[in-house]
Amino acid sequence: MTNSAEAQGNGNDTAKLRAMRIESIEARLYYVPLTSVLTDARHGTMREFSLVTVSIMTDGGVEGLGYSYTVGKTGGTALLALIRDNLAPALIGVDPRCTEALWEKMWWHLHYVGRGGLASFAISAIDIALWDIKGKLAQEPLWRLLGGHDSSVRVYAGGIDLDLPIDRLRQQTEGNLKRGFRAIKIKVGRDRLQDDVERVATARACLGPDLPLMVDANMRWTVAQAIRAACAFREYDIYWLEEPTIPDDVEGHRKIEVEGGIPVATGENLHTIYEFQKMISAGGVSFPEPDMSNIGGVTGWIKVAHLAEAYNLPVTSHGIHDLHVHLLAAVPNASLMEIHGFGLDPYIAHPLEISNGQVRASERPGHGIEMQWDALEAYRVGAKGHALQSKALRGDVVDLKV
Ligand SMILES: [Mg+2]
Repeated sequence: MTNSAEAQGNGNDTAKLRAMRIESIEARLYYVPLTSVLTDARHGTMREFSLVTVSIMTDGGVEGLGYSYTVGKTGGTALLALIRDNLAPALIGVDPRCTEALWEKMWWHLHYVGRGGLASFAISAIDIALWDIKGKLAQEPLWRLLGGHDSSVRVYAGGIDLDLPIDRLRQQTEGNLKRGFRAIKIKVGRDRLQDDVERVATARACLGPDLPLMVDANMRWTVAQAIRAACAFREYDIYWLEEPTIPDDVEGHRKIEVEGGIPVATGENLHTIYEFQKMISAGGVSFPEPDMSNIGGVTGWIKVAHLAEAYNLPVTSHGIHDLHVHLLAAVPNASLMEIHGFGLDPYIAHPLEISNGQVRASERPGHGIEMQWDALEAYRVGAKGHALQSKALRGDVVDLKV
């Protein structure tokens, strides 16, 4: 081969890469049981979550995996339908590497029923699979492909534990320290503020004075209630106060930041980069928390991270830590990553290992997650013995308490 031919690469290979196309997209829905019952102030009692997976096959033989999830069974079938019936047919035959072009195509395809919400979940699952393909083609892990800042990521245990009595909360915190955590988050938002204060005091006593302690109210409070709670928590050196009130009240978040005296974290319920732009530019958040499973995948999350950086803010995450580890490892402004209660450890080949408060992003190409499909099969909706059902029948008494 001549030097110029080497510089241009193998002609056939180049032509093949140029011609790469999406051949098929398969989406599946699973109702994954939680290993223990979890509770927070807004979603109540949780026993399972909906996991929607997307497998994209290219004509070059490279396959990408993406997924998103919802709380309980709510929205799972709708998310599956958006991907299977609306997005997948629009993407067959296009180049999977052109993630910005595909993102824009998906955004406008769902725009009239979207601009956030469930549409962003659907776009996310596909976008994640596309980035997995790009990483595999480049033979690079996503964290390096996206910027490669530091493969070691500090983590915290995201407790979903509002109903735990004090002694169980103490046991859980001590157990997390033994597992290697050096930071934890607990739920607040009980009916009596004094109960929350007691929980915060217990967690702080277990952690000692130096380790970060976060609290999460899951949007339970009004602005005035949140400020009152923040003032009551102040003596316990809270690292951040998460989702004190509804995500729509941008000015309220700014007030809670200023008058509550604790940095505010929010983002798992902000589903577009424009919602983050409004919250960040108004001074309503100190720790933006985009979730790549509902902000538009890798593409959306990275944009929020860079937006935060331009405002001199860190960025953190919510949920699906096996994927988020790559994104936090990619950027210079990473804060602590949540190790979330909806874990996939029993269903993936290489769960994250926590050591001295940190995890390490893998060196496997793409996101490197290998789903153990056989382990998940019992929970696949539509599989034998797991038919879709509607539980609410005419005449049922429906509980309207939220
Ligand atoms: Mg939260």
